[in-house]
Amino acid sequence: MRKINFSAGPSTLVLEVLKKAQDELVDYQGRGYSIMEISHRSKIFEEVHFGAMSRAKQLYGLNDDYEVLFLQGGASLQFAMIPMNLAMNGTCEYANTGVWTQKAIKEAKILGVKVKVVASSEEENFNHIPEVNFSDNADYAYICSNNTIYGTQYKEYPKTKAPLIVDASSDFFSKKVDFSNIALFYGGVQKNAGISGLACVFIRKDMLERSEKKNLTSMLKYSIHAQNHSLFNTPPTFAIYMFNLQMQWLLELGGLDKMNQINTQKAKLLYDCIDNSGGFYSTHAKSDKSLMNVSFNIKDTNLEALFVKEAEEEGMLGLKGHRILGGIRASIYNAITPEQVQILCEFMREFQKKYA
Ligand SMILES: *Cc1c(COP(=O)(O)O)cnc(C)c1O
Repeated sequence: MRKINFSAGPSTLVLEVLKKAQDELVDYQGRGYSIMEISHRSKIFEEVHFGAMSRAKQLYGLNDDYEVLFLQGGASLQFAMIPMNLAMNGTCEYANTGVWTQKAIKEAKILGVKVKVVASSEEENFNHIPEVNFSDNADYAYICSNNTIYGTQYKEYPKTKAPLIVDASSDFFSKKVDFSNIALFYGGVQKNAGISGLACVFIRKDMLERSEKKNLTSMLKYSIHAQNHSLFNTPPTFAIYMFNLQMQWLLELGGLDKMNQINTQKAKLLYDCIDNSGGFYSTHAKSDKSLMNVSFNIKDTNLEALFVKEAEEEGMLGLKGHRILGGIRASIYNAITPEQVQILCEFMREFQKKYA
């Protein structure tokens, strides 16, 4: 019996995708070997690799102004690669909306670039997205689109003339995005679009020119990866294969507008359940509530451990809040179904009846 898995990441995968991978695991399309066992320079792998890239672009509706990069080192290596490749002589501006932007800011500071934090909701423990005003002439303007721990999400990205950089790790491929101002859009794929080991970076080509001019070691240089179509060295082939299956699944579903419609429906079920609890449950986010990660508390916080334990007995996993914030968190990424959220809501209502 598969559990209902609300883990924040790595997280549950689409069952059809897992089954397809299982089917093909020891014998990929009748060839007598698995996709993991062949050269990343072979035709067979290239089909997967370039197929995944083009499907990823297709889903976001991107043209050749953008390059897709498949990189390792998770989203976290991007915290360093972004300032290394893209900082010029101006300011690198950040909106601080949680732990993941704090980490990105920290890495940029280590590198000695001019970091400016232009907005922050830290004093309110990141319970909302602050108003953000970037300078037009900043080297770049950096945001995290969805704050995985605190359960907040930008409904619209800030308007800026500076190149916008977005860490979309926890709402990757969950909805359509307006790229008109986006210079770099990235995420680790293990939350919403695949398994760990792969970061996917969409980079606008003028940013590659910046990278090109930098004196950086090869593996840390965007332009080298772009020139080599992310085959400069051995990429994480199985993670790319899984990502490709996930892209195919999304396309067959009807694309990112359809995905967003389902995600919106799921989040509404859960927020309605919380809002209709008469204060028994309450969300950490005061506004800008995330469609992906719902962080909440029980009025009597002593009941939270019991909640997690009883949920586990009912086959629901991953509901313990992040260690920094505590409480309860349900991550309802793409692979979670409305039916599964419904089951969680029923459990929540029963739990309240028993202990309120
Ligand atoms: C999980 C997460 C990261 C870190 O991802 P890694 O792949 O573990 O480096 C970065 N940003 C956000 C928003 C995340 O949710």
